[in-house]
Amino acid sequence: MGMKRIIIVGGGFAGVKCARALRKRLPKDRAEIVLFSRENNMIFYPLLAEVAGAAINPSAVTVPLRQMLPGVRCRTEEIRHIDLATSEVEYERYDGRPGRVTFDHAVLACGTAVNLSVVPGMADHAFPLKSEGDAMVLRFHVMEQLEKAEVCDDPERRRWYLSFVVVGGGFTGVEVAGEINDLIKAGTRFYSTFTAKDVTVTLVHSRDQILPEVGPTLREFARTKMQESGIHMILNARAVSATAEGVELHDGQMLRGATVVCTIGNTAPLLVHRLEVPKERGRLLTDPDMRVRGASNLWAVGDCAQIVNAYDGQVSPTTGQFAERQGRQAAENIIRALQGESTRPFFFKPLGQLCGIGERKAVAEILGVRLSGFPAWWLWRTVYLLKSPSWSRRVKIAFDWTWELFFPRDLAHPRVNQTERIARAHYRPGDLIFAEGEPAMSFYAIEQGEIEVLRRDPTGQQQLLARLGPGEFFGEIALLDGNVRIGSVRARTTVEVLVMGKEVFSKLSGALTPFRNLVAQALRWRRPRLNRHLSQTWTALERRPLSEFMEAVPERRLAPDDTFENTVRMFDQLAVEYLTVLDEKGRLSGIVTRNELFEAFAQGKKPSITVREFMRADPVAVTPEEMSLMAGDLMNKHDIDWLPVVENKADRRLIGIVRSEKMLRWLMKQSEPT
Ligand SMILES: Cc1cc2nc3c(=O)[nH]c(=O)nc-3n(C[C@H](O)[C@H](O)[C@H](O)COP(=O)(O)OP(=O)(O)OC[C@H]3O[C@@H](n4cnc5c(N)ncnc54)[C@H](O)[C@@H]3O)c2cc1C
Repeated sequence: MGMKRIIIVGGGFAGVKCARALRKRLPKDRAEIVLFSRENNMIFYPLLAEVAGAAINPSAVTVPLRQMLPGVRCRTEEIRHIDLATSEVEYERYDGRPGRVTFDHAVLACGTAVNLSVVPGMADHAFPLKSEGDAMVLRFHVMEQLEKAEVCDDPERRRWYLSFVVVGGGFTGVEVAGEINDLIKAGTRFYSTFTAKDVTVTLVHSRDQILPEVGPTLREFARTKMQESGIHMILNARAVSATAEGVELHDGQMLRGATVVCTIGNTAPLLVHRLEVPKERGRLLTDPDMRVRGASNLWAVGDCAQIVNAYDGQVSPTTGQFAERQGRQAAENIIRALQGESTRPFFFKPLGQLCGIGERKAVAEILGVRLSGFPAWWLWRTVYLLKSPSWSRRVKIAFDWTWELFFPRDLAHPRVNQTERIARAHYRPGDLIFAEGEPAMSFYAIEQGEIEVLRRDPTGQQQLLARLGPGEFFGEIALLDGNVRIGSVRARTTVEVLVMGKEVFSKLSGALTPFRNLVAQALRWRRPRLNRHLSQTWTALERRPLSEFMEAVPERRLAPDDTFENTVRMFDQLAVEYLTVLDEKGRLSGIVTRNELFEAFAQGKKPSITVREFMRADPVAVTPEEMSLMAGDLMNKHDIDWLPVVENKADRRLIGIVRSEKMLRWLMKQSEPT
């Protein structure tokens, strides 16, 4: 076996275990092990909620990858794409340009990504928990609410400050609800205007039992214990929106609270979305030996993969325990494959399950024995302490925990930055991005793919209003009007969008005039179509041929050989906004607006240069047979108020123009009451 290169993508539970096992078994002169990860450290997620709850310090849950993985080449770079045909990974280099490296085997261990936009408003109003930064921001925010409640003289408002809502009853939701409950209840004795009884922590979950990651017996056990400790639980309830006031549930119930933590909305990372291999709900489907289906040298482990456990025939749960085992067993299979031996299916008999539920209590099921309360909590902490990936971290955590046994939690709140609230979202063809009548919380910019804007007419039929593609945007009307969505948007193809929360949108449009103008320009053509009173008029415009709005070709025009100097003089004397450029046969060669004049001047062009050299060549044009509404859309798209009309698109002889003002006059006339 010659020198091989094995690339691992992701420095989490699965990736680290895989890299370690490979390095241990393969000598350095036989294989180069390269681990790409976005961060230079591994995050020990099971303890993140404790950081949010001020039980441990953030540095205790992160471990630098290169210190943990001697002999492994650690590269803090993001992998953008995997090319299976050439066995190459494409990564983003330090200077932003793409770089490529070949591999003999690659392991995908890139976990999941957070997508707060799954519920309208969450991106703006809820706290995620996926990084130490998120945990610290949440911790600071919780403390801030206690301080505000202490000085607030309005009882209703105070109750709102003291109400905490956690959405999602998986590991993260359960742990964070328990930790917030602990932190607040332990801290209230230092405040004088409220007590622990005034505080409400609510956990909302969409199924009838919390903790889908653990066995059914432990779920019920955890629920009872959490309720006993004062956590209010709402099951079989779906959050449909989040606002500055709290969370709205599917049955219309509004859970008011100043703090909303969103632990749902896990989605596949973009890298996984982009890979054209079999997937199930965004997770990579694998063969029993963890090879990605259809690939010979690509493997997938951890949360990004859907792996069947040969022990019980079940799909592996998304837990740290399984991710580690998969990482280790995938490493063993890669070595077998390199040696030409047959690989083995993933097989793991879970040893037990543990989950902290706050107030020095946990629930555990170890080798069939169920434990709860303090003994389970002690076991939980000991197991995680030993599982913590380095000795220096173990000592740090043990110190923090011992400290907390004797002293109250630290109520100070340092300010830190948090996860960016501009997120990317991915939709499959036919997916609804938002529906008519929903509250408006986000603005979307299309990066890839096409969407359709739909609206119900008075008979309840859905009408197609527009199709938008890359570089265009949607979702702005209801945000600006402060209303619910007045149309639905559906993905026509696979779509990737940038999702901007309402607040980011309003800050950006407040600060950036060109952005504001762009949105205003789009609104001119979009808003009337969505207005119920005008929609019929607008539909009539759709059927009206353009010839009915056509005006004669303006007298003043330019020839391609006219000079820059003469053109400026004509603009000055005629006070026009634009001039068309026609060749000797009357064909449209280009147009000149003030933009072209200033651009030529800024580039230091000589007065003697010809129009041909600075005009906008081959401008967008329409034919008389085209529909008026399409012309309106073109004007909107190109930010112009008129369009040249040509006889046909092939020879482009100019026969007239259409202006937006003329269409507007017609529309106004149609909408007048008869
Ligand atoms: C708050 C919280 C609490 C949890 N509590 C528990 C618990 O108590 N018990 C339990 O068993 N499980 C728990 N889990 C689940 C557990 O953490 C996951 O199952 C586990 O982290 C999955 O490991 P992984 O290696 O697949 O992914 P991760 O640990 O998420 O690691 C993925 C890594 O890939 C990197 N990455 C992603 N995309 C790229 C890319 N394109 N290029 C380079 N790098 C990339 C990421 O930066 C990250 O480092 C918890 C999870 C969270 C968030």
